[in-house]
Amino acid sequence: MQQIVLASRPTGAPSQENFRLESAAIPSPAEGEILVKVSHMSLDPYMRGRMDDAKSYAAPVPIGGKMEGGSVGVVLSSNAPGFAEGDHVFGPFGWATHSTANAKMCRKLDPAQAPVTTSLGVLGMPGFTGWLGLKEYGRPKAGETLAVAAATGPVGSMVGQLAKAQGLRTVGIAGGAEKCALAKDSFGFDACIDHRAYDNVKDLRKAMKDAAPDGIDVYFENVGGPVLDAALSLMNPHGRIPVCGMIAWYNAGGLGADAAGQGLTAPKIWRTILVNFLSVNGFIISNHWDRFPEFVAEVAPMIADGRVKYQEDITEGLENAPQAFMDLLTGGNHGKAIVKVG
Ligand code: NDP
Repeated sequence: MQQIVLASRPTGAPSQENFRLESAAIPSPAEGEILVKVSHMSLDPYMRGRMDDAKSYAAPVPIGGKMEGGSVGVVLSSNAPGFAEGDHVFGPFGWATHSTANAKMCRKLDPAQAPVTTSLGVLGMPGFTGWLGLKEYGRPKAGETLAVAAATGPVGSMVGQLAKAQGLRTVGIAGGAEKCALAKDSFGFDACIDHRAYDNVKDLRKAMKDAAPDGIDVYFENVGGPVLDAALSLMNPHGRIPVCGMIAWYNAGGLGADAAGQGLTAPKIWRTILVNFLSVNGFIISNHWDRFPEFVAEVAPMIADGRVKYQEDITEGLENAPQAFMDLLTGGNHGKAIVKVG
């Protein structure tokens, strides 16, 4: 079997040297475990955080340790009740061609109901994140305006489509004309701003104001950086900001290291929250798995009948996972980033 391990910790943006492809013996499943041949693995922004030796909600990957992540595959052998050879499963199998895992951490999939790759994106953790964050912390109301960046990714596209279905004006923010066209044509955003076309917050803010003439009621925070700066100044009284991610700063190597130059000072942020009576709620989706069945019951039919659309960006070969991951962090992915392993 092959796996990709963390060779060294990145300073700033990760590079190829931070990863190493290794061969190893196929492991045997211990009591309560299953052995899986991985077919597809997910690439997610949070993996950048796991490469740092920093205190977080999850432990860092140790140097020499397998890169972690969710994957789908087929059971080769089972030492756990309820799982049998040939079952399709989702689980924490990491960046590897084969893996064992505690069966309690795995979920059986029915490929006849939905392609197994959807359990990595639209019907998996990222789609669930968009659904929960919008419902619980965005509290959308018909007639309001919602803005979300990384609008064509699995979180942003879910947020935009659900908000639109509930009668909101939806403003996407995405990198490049192609992604903006995708946001509008496929995911139904009323407008989409290409944030990479602006080199200053003032112009970005003007473009966002034109797209959200009545101001922003829900800013679903995926990115931080200049987009946050612009969005904050457009928030309406009693607006809501579900704080989901801040990918613009994941490579910053220190919280907000590049924020000072963007005028996003703590007094400015706090004052905006204060005078606009904003509700700002951070959340980590792994604390909400009890709501996952509710999400699937509500959204799976919407995917099946085309009300919710999704796009996947599939890279071939485990050895290409590091490059695909680096591309994800800089906007090179067009849809949910997945690596076809098998
Ligand atoms: P995506 O597949 O959308 O990929 C990330 C995207 O972020 C890139 O494609 C790029 O899109 C955009 N991006 C990168 N750098 C910047 C920047 N400097 N400014 C603006 N946009 C940037 O990711 P996901 O949908 O999987 O995740 C979206 C966010 O949600 C991330 O921040 C992630 O960490 C967070 N998240 C949080 C969870 C939680 O539990 N709180 C769970 C899951 C995800 P573009 O080219 O359009 O700029």
